[in-house]
Amino acid sequence: MGLFTKDIKTMNDLFVHQLQDIYYAEQQLTKALPKMAAKATDPQLKQGFLTHLEETKQHVARLEEVFKMHGAQVKAVDCPAIDGIIEEADETAGEVADKAVLDAALINAAQAAEHYEIVRYGSLIAWAKQLGRTDCASVLAKTLEEEKATDKKLTTLAESKVNLRAALARCTSIIRSLSKHDGRLEAYVSHGAAIEVAACEPTPSSINPFATTPARRAPHRSLRLL
Ligand code: FE
Ligand code: FE
Repeated sequence: MGLFTKDIKTMNDLFVHQLQDIYYAEQQLTKALPKMAAKATDPQLKQGFLTHLEETKQHVARLEEVFKMHGAQVKAVDCPAIDGIIEEADETAGEVADKAVLDAALINAAQAAEHYEIVRYGSLIAWAKQLGRTDCASVLAKTLEEEKATDKKLTTLAESKVNLRAALARCTSIIRSLSKHDGRLEAYVSHGAAIEVAACEPTPSSINPFATTPARRAPHRSLRLL
């Protein structure tokens, strides 16, 4: 049964079809998340993927519960969208040489999957309510909250350190530590014997949060040394 074929005649058909779609997606993610954890270098990111793997196993179980509550067959249908997101993540990861840059790419790929899930669960919950299945909606809502929380944690991880590490990749400096100072994220970097402080502006969500003033010793073209 395809999404836009005549097989879907009612809102109930649509609800069941999308349950089958997200059931497939969750199953694929239980296979993808351990691989992403294995590729991640940042310990928090690695742990984050493993934590979400356990949650994702619960998402699969909750969907099975909803199928049964709704009297529908527990079944998965191919979801080309999640296949594409996972395939693209694999391809991109294969093309990234630096581990710090790879972490940033992995967060991006994971957030693409989370956003896909958030959209699907959002509609499923609305449709369940419309169909009078508030019982199904409340089970699905537990999963939606976990997807949103995961997305938020990934953003925090990216903006608090992973993106900065990625931006410093391949420069001759070695990051010794990161800290927040007066709202600025600072990276203590070493060049040979010297330790210097590089900083990014306190606008982590901007397209390029890094200052572009030329650095004294130019450890990285987009960093400004204090
Ligand atoms: Fe999920
Ligand atoms: Fe998820």
